[in-house]
Amino acid sequence: MKDDGPPHVAMLATPGMGHLIPLAELAKRLAARHGATATLFTFASTASPTQRSILASLPPSISSHRLPPVDLSDLPRDSLIETLMSEECTRSLPALTGILGELKRTTRLVAFVADFFGADSLVAARDAGVARRCLFMPESLHALSLVLHLPELVVSIPGEFRDLVEPVRLPGCVPIPGPDMISPLQDRSSPAYGLMVRLAERCRAEADAFLINSFDAVEPEAAKVLRQPTPRRPPVYPIGPLIRTAECSGANAAAAPHSPPAACLEWLDEQPARSVIFVSFGSGGALPAEQMRELALGLELSEQRFLWVLRSPSDEDSLSDNYYDAASKKDPFVYLPGGFVERTKKTGFLVPSWAPQIQVLAHKATGGFLTHCGWNSILESLVHGVPMVAWPLFAEQRLNAVMLSEGAGAAIRLPEVKDKETIAAAVRKLMAGEGKGAVVRAKVAELQNAAAEGLREGGAATSSLDQFVENLVGEE
Ligand code: UDP
Repeated sequence: MKDDGPPHVAMLATPGMGHLIPLAELAKRLAARHGATATLFTFASTASPTQRSILASLPPSISSHRLPPVDLSDLPRDSLIETLMSEECTRSLPALTGILGELKRTTRLVAFVADFFGADSLVAARDAGVARRCLFMPESLHALSLVLHLPELVVSIPGEFRDLVEPVRLPGCVPIPGPDMISPLQDRSSPAYGLMVRLAERCRAEADAFLINSFDAVEPEAAKVLRQPTPRRPPVYPIGPLIRTAECSGANAAAAPHSPPAACLEWLDEQPARSVIFVSFGSGGALPAEQMRELALGLELSEQRFLWVLRSPSDEDSLSDNYYDAASKKDPFVYLPGGFVERTKKTGFLVPSWAPQIQVLAHKATGGFLTHCGWNSILESLVHGVPMVAWPLFAEQRLNAVMLSEGAGAAIRLPEVKDKETIAAAVRKLMAGEGKGAVVRAKVAELQNAAAEGLREGGAATSSLDQFVENLVGEE
């Protein structure tokens, strides 16, 4: 290994904007604050225009490297996204080991960082002789707690989580009702179930440190428990919220080519302050056609202004297709109720597939966010002080919704049965700041301040990252 030059960190992002964006932000922070350089590895499957624009916007100290394609054609056509991501990672390990070995010869490689679905790559890093191997969770501390306890939980709870009468209780965490446990764990017979347990075991066995994109104020009890040094558990560093800034996610970065982002921002410019609810289901989320219809009618009934990122229904485009490339494969407008576009043309704006979310949330006209509760979306909303209506769909989104609405009190969660009336009522309550809407707004303002505080010099998140880097460099 070169023993001079800046410290170099190799990182692996599994598919999905929710993994790539925060890892890229971590790389930028390590470069800006600690003078590090980084290589960000991605997979051959992740080459959508949106993803390419994120990689193209990285500073010169961070290079990106796409791993060679691997054959996944033998996997069943209906494989879950979790299986696809992890399988692509496993089959890419020989190539990754080779490239890491080369990086070790040519740079001062101090660490390898992977996200949860890339946990198998920690073994490749060990084989390549990388000294420190870290897991980055672009997730909550609640999700980390679940990962840490999962191997024991699946033994102590023999049936299906969804059938549990009592909620799952993890140290420092909000009790989690069984049906709100993460979706791949809801069916013991599914291959994704075994995969999650295996990856959790892998993380516990192979990671030297856990970097978590969360902050103490949003889940204080979990932070207290996980910050506590514990024998046989690697240290936990809450370093969030790491999100893109409005400046660096400029008008063209992260925008799909067919949806000029400026149009929705220009529309926002004309709306009164805090009057618009932003509606978006992340990079892969879409609703079944019937729910999409109820949402349209609910927004109309609420009589609130809205900006909706429209994607064709989940009965039409598969989740994994969306996840790899957010562009809607079919025209989403044809699924809207008849006359909806015309009737709401003064109050609503529809963007197909992808919007410049950070800029929307940072805009003064945005006063609420109806979100699928992807962790990055939650952090971005909190950083910009935007209260939320929670409509979780899959993965760990229901867990996030529980933590956010029951624990942090930063969102109004929609009831299980979502029709136009329940949707309109929740949107109105949030936007008018009535009842629970007022409580949620106040809590979000408090969390916005706490998030900014943590990222200042000497703040909790900054100190955690400093500590992580000191430990890395100190152990060289
Ligand atoms: N995003 C965006 N525009 C969109 C949809 C998503 O910029 O129209 C970004 C969003 O800002 C966030 C990421 O994509 O950074 C989505 O991550 P999240 O964890 O919220 O959800 P996921 O896509 O992983 O379900």
